[in-house]
Amino acid sequence: MPKIKISKQKCTEIFERLAKTWPHAKCELVHNTHFQLLLAVMLSAQTTDKSVNKALEPLFIKKPHFSSKDLIKMGEDKFYEAIRQIGLAPTKAKNALAMAKILEEKHGGMVPNDRDLLEELPGVGRKTANVVLNVLFQHPLIAVDTHVERVAKRLGLASSEASRLEVEEALMKAVPEKYLVDVHHWLIFHGRYLCIARKPRCLDCPIQDICPKRLLTSSSR
Ligand code: SF4
Repeated sequence: MPKIKISKQKCTEIFERLAKTWPHAKCELVHNTHFQLLLAVMLSAQTTDKSVNKALEPLFIKKPHFSSKDLIKMGEDKFYEAIRQIGLAPTKAKNALAMAKILEEKHGGMVPNDRDLLEELPGVGRKTANVVLNVLFQHPLIAVDTHVERVAKRLGLASSEASRLEVEEALMKAVPEKYLVDVHHWLIFHGRYLCIARKPRCLDCPIQDICPKRLLTSSSR
């Protein structure tokens, strides 16, 4: 288990400031229903939310309640055509259809509020399950994607060698309990819009005085 390098007091300060910086942070994947969110999160693996939205928005505009039944009816080939611009589209289309069939056969078309049942679905791993459980069912969970991992490591909340699971475990220890439902979105927004991979905007960052990487990085200004 990686050690947290900063004090509990500083951890609290970090998350208090992130709460103030990103009060409106939320999931940026387009969706109208639980099924659509699950589908969008599955498709977002190793690609951007923007490209997933671009592929799914036309489907959801045409059919605002696009469901597992609609996806099965559409078929793998047509769905693949709709998402072909997304990375790993053939595998994702296959998994999406298999996921929709299982939802229909075992769960009455509903997204289960249960980690084990979610992770039984094709193409659903721990990160996807965490997003779904957090966004749809408000579980106090943190899904570690590339943004969350980068921010946590730069802030010294997890060691640079930590695996994604270790980063998740370190964050679950570091984040005050009252923030656990929302912090996932704050970290994603922070990584996406300020603590950017190539050029972190340290001069604009509200936690620059606490961040150990502040002096090692340059701002975009
Ligand atoms: S000070 Fe810079 S490196 Fe540290 S969290 Fe802020 S943007 Fe990221």
